[in-house]
Amino acid sequence: LRIQQAIKRYGTLTALDGIDLEVQQGEFFGLLGPNGAGKTTLISALAGLVRLDSGRIEVMGAEVVRDYRQARRLLGVVPQELVFDPFFSVRETLNIQAGYFGITASRQRDAWIDEILENLDLTSKANANMRMLSGGMKRRVLVAQALVHRPPVIVLDEPTAGVDVGLRQTLWQFIQRLNRDGHTIVLTTHYLEEAESLCERLAMLKAGRIVALDRTD
Ligand code: ATP
Repeated sequence: LRIQQAIKRYGTLTALDGIDLEVQQGEFFGLLGPNGAGKTTLISALAGLVRLDSGRIEVMGAEVVRDYRQARRLLGVVPQELVFDPFFSVRETLNIQAGYFGITASRQRDAWIDEILENLDLTSKANANMRMLSGGMKRRVLVAQALVHRPPVIVLDEPTAGVDVGLRQTLWQFIQRLNRDGHTIVLTTHYLEEAESLCERLAMLKAGRIVALDRTD
């Protein structure tokens, strides 16, 4: 990820105040900072959900505004807020998500979705309607949705808020495996022990600026 002089204003509030940041391919990177520091705004800009006032962002060479299709394809984002469609089952939700990326029904697609469900402990809920899931389970589906198109870069915005201890461990094992397989991971969290044990490098954001950037150790 290459973020250059990213500036985003909401009226008089400057949410991103000139962010310069590079995350290397294959890194496990942490984004920390108090509520309102600009973490979600930065992630939204990466994902093309927020337009910067100025500056530019590239995902593996694809610029998020100009090469938006390619940039979206390279990125999987687990959003902070629970969003789900109450009309579909877990499997239908994942199939539809795959369809957004042009991945049509195939044995390969189904095998990958099965693997994701297994790793997130969702297999027994595959045919349950989204409304029937608990909050933590809905969050796992959000993680699954972000992975469906096998993005090389995975961004997780506070993925473990409201998730029980067991799943937290399963989730991190899975994400660490993806990282070992070469995926780049960007994580925001308010659990410092989580950031400390998982991330190789951390950036600390405050009022839209990077106030610290260093190796975790
Ligand atoms: P948290 O840890 O609470 O998730 P954060 O670091 O992700 O916080 P952001 O959500 O990026 O913070 O918010 C940064 C600032 O921008 C905050 O002051 C917030 O109120 C403001 N902000 C975010 N989105 C909007 C919006 N759509 N319109 C106006 N202001 C916004």
